[in-house]
Amino acid sequence: MIIEDKTELEKKCSPVSVKEGEEIGVRLLHELRQSKNGIGLAANQIGINKRVCVINVKEPIVLINPKIVEHSKEEFVFAEGCLSFPKDKVKTQRYVSVVVEADNHENKLSFSADSKEINDAFECVCVQHEIDHLDGITMFDKEFKQEPIVRGVNAPLKIGRNDKVLIARGAHSKVMKYKKALPLLENGWTLVEQ
Ligand SMILES: [Zn+2]
Repeated sequence: MIIEDKTELEKKCSPVSVKEGEEIGVRLLHELRQSKNGIGLAANQIGINKRVCVINVKEPIVLINPKIVEHSKEEFVFAEGCLSFPKDKVKTQRYVSVVVEADNHENKLSFSADSKEINDAFECVCVQHEIDHLDGITMFDKEFKQEPIVRGVNAPLKIGRNDKVLIARGAHSKVMKYKKALPLLENGWTLVEQ
């Protein structure tokens, strides 16, 4: 069962041994598979306040005591969901790339949204979202807040001209400044929404 109580989810998780972490990882992946469209889950979302999370975008990855040890200066805007808040969508600001260390991985893991493959962006956002959970941080804390500008006639969108956005057309995607993306958005490209 997935915890939906925000106060519970704001508690920090404690470090865990690799052995215990692996057991929690198995439970998390099982729970994630039960969900309809989840791509990541943190242990505190199932009531275990230990530093373990899983992501499953391209392949299942268990992270035990994960830490972001490097990140890009650049950020981009992404529309996120969370299994604990199934009715909510939040536009967040995330690093374009991160390097993660975890006790159950000998090598550092790199994630970058700066590629043609849209799943790279999902995976990069997901790993940041799940590690945040372990620190009691939810997507609402990473909400992108800036003066709104109006895009076309339809939806006003809270994105500044120099903010990075992820846009896609078919299987292609790219990260670029919003002002540079505007002409593309009028030519068949769309802002990526989850
Ligand atoms: Zn979440």
